Amino acid sequence: MKIEQGVLLSRFTTIGTGGPAHAFARPESVDELQEALRHAREHELDVATVGLGSNLLVGDEGFDGLVVKLGGELAHAGTEGELLVAGGGAPNAVALHRARAAGLGGFEFACAIPGTAGGGVRMNAGAYGGDWAGILERALVVDAERAEWRTPSELGLSYRHSELHSGEVVARVEFRLTPRPADEIKAVVADLQAQRKAAQPTNKRTYGSVFKNPEHELSAGRMLEACGLKGHRIGGAQISPRHANFIENADGAKSADAVALMAEARRRASEQFGVELEHEVVFLGSLELPLLE
Ligand SMILES: Cc1cc2nc3c(=O)[nH]c(=O)nc-3n(C[C@H](O)[C@H](O)[C@H](O)COP(=O)(O)OP(=O)(O)OC[C@H]3O[C@@H](n4cnc5c(N)ncnc54)[C@H](O)[C@@H]3O)c2cc1C
Repeated sequence: MKIEQGVLLSRFTTIGTGGPAHAFARPESVDELQEALRHAREHELDVATVGLGSNLLVGDEGFDGLVVKLGGELAHAGTEGELLVAGGGAPNAVALHRARAAGLGGFEFACAIPGTAGGGVRMNAGAYGGDWAGILERALVVDAERAEWRTPSELGLSYRHSELHSGEVVARVEFRLTPRPADEIKAVVADLQAQRKAAQPTNKRTYGSVFKNPEHELSAGRMLEACGLKGHRIGGAQISPRHANFIENADGAKSADAVALMAEARRRASEQFGVELEHEVVFLGSLELPLLE
């Protein structure tokens, strides 16, 4: 399988920033995936998987390892009885379309999450009261040596968290759904999408929620709004004027601009609310937030 050099990762992130990957592979089967992972082991390269890059911030200097982007049968979705069966790289929109066509409900909440089935496992993605942990039957986790099915409890899923290690790739996912008429599914999805559009910047380049919601009466977005940060800009990145827990690529942003905004937001939330915000977005490459004083 071809291993490409220097592929620009800004092409694969929804915010549109990020430098090159040292090595890049697009495996289309579990065998090809293991071949790529063994290549990384032989060359002592760190491994990262990119789904739709919708919760990913890649350093401007790139990633000095192997990036894996699942394709072919690892990006398809279909149904088997009441199971929705998706490749780890299958976009949620495709999986939802297949579920609806088969009259299977329970995945509607994912219409708000512009990622993949595998990225959703890694993040335990969720919205509108649903999450991966609630419907996941099992996931096929692959590394250079093994391919093993894991249940939600074996994956250690909790709020926007899993216990997957770097170098472990979710190649297949099975969700247990329930029969529901297709027109009901369509109506729920339309309603959720309208709610989303009313509250969040859906037509801008962002990476979704910047910070996890803290254990506080205010959500991260409300807290940063109270700090007066809506519309605050550094370089080409700005805190969304619509929702303060989103950072938009307003004009030629660098990842460094987004990190500087995140550092400022954390500092202000700490000063004003005594809360240490934890980032939800995953960093790839040499990105770091400064420690709070
Ligand atoms: C406009 C917008 C709205 C959003 N709304 C929500 C929301 O409501 N709820 C929510 O939970 N999230 C939301 N997100 C964030 C994001 O869509 C989710 O976290 C999503 O699950 C990420 O999936 P992805 O495939 O894009 O993963 P990526 O962003 O590509 O990667 C995220 C992490 O998952 C890992 N990963 C990706 N694929 C795999 C795989 N196959 N195996 C192992 N690890 C993998 C990556 O290495 C990285 O660590 C939103 C994002 C945007 C841009």
